[in-house]
Amino acid sequence: MKIITIVDDMQVWAKAARRNEQHIAFVPTMGFLHEGHLSLLRKGRRVADQLVLSIFVNPTQFGPHEDFDRYPQDLEGDLAKARSCNVDVVFVPTRDAMYQTNFQTSVNVCKLSQGLCGKSRPGHFQGVATVVLKLFLVVQPDIAIFGEKDYQQLQVIRQMTRDLHLPIDIRGMPIVREPDGLAMSSRNTLLTPEDRSVARALFQSLTQAQKMVHQGETNLAVLTDAVRAHLLESRRITIDYVSLCQPETLTPLTELVFPALLAIAVRVGNVRLIDNCILKKNQ
Ligand code: AMP
Repeated sequence: MKIITIVDDMQVWAKAARRNEQHIAFVPTMGFLHEGHLSLLRKGRRVADQLVLSIFVNPTQFGPHEDFDRYPQDLEGDLAKARSCNVDVVFVPTRDAMYQTNFQTSVNVCKLSQGLCGKSRPGHFQGVATVVLKLFLVVQPDIAIFGEKDYQQLQVIRQMTRDLHLPIDIRGMPIVREPDGLAMSSRNTLLTPEDRSVARALFQSLTQAQKMVHQGETNLAVLTDAVRAHLLESRRITIDYVSLCQPETLTPLTELVFPALLAIAVRVGNVRLIDNCILKKNQ
């Protein structure tokens, strides 16, 4: 497994691979890898000849009062996990390598970035889209794999790829969960033991909504109120949003139409967690 830290070296490697007609699959991450990330890597291993993982905690997608400084890191552990998934190249650029002095260009996927997490995290998706486009240009993948856990991010990347005619196949992968249903996230390690236990409520509230739909509930407000009420059973939880949206445009629904994206963002203690599911009529 090659470890590359220099942008030019990564581009040279990618050009050589492409010259040799090797298809490149790419999984961008911020590291502190867990089974969710590994599911993307295993997919990448199956669909291409070369598999590239990037690890970069991107400063421009964090707001001034967010958790950039305490974002968990474990490069040695990540490299061992990457080896276990037969990754060919791990690209680990420094902050200075990604953002040279006087860097001033950014990408804004305007509409899709506005709602949901975009409301409480202004600039977040601009940071994401910009760094992902930069990584795409450095790694030059044929296929890039993202998790549906960050559902809005996946739609933003899909839109950017279409809008800019990037010759990259964007694949989304299902959410990998802990045994109690909590969506795996590097941020879960920041939870206190008590908050970790409380965090089960996210998935429980989504499953409860799904169950209500199966039982014939079609009233949007009744569903979102039930989700809110379930989450607020713990005083450790504060809600950022509980939203029902059209799954591609992310436009908020005014009445329930299936399939519908049910997306939630909460704070458990001082950790921000997100989760989502697609509600279908006859599941
Ligand atoms: P991150 O390191 O959190 O930026 O995530 C890197 C990639 O892994 C993104 O495409 C995420 O959507 C994906 N990912 C994170 N957690 C999960 C999960 N629990 N299941 C599936 N994919 C995930």
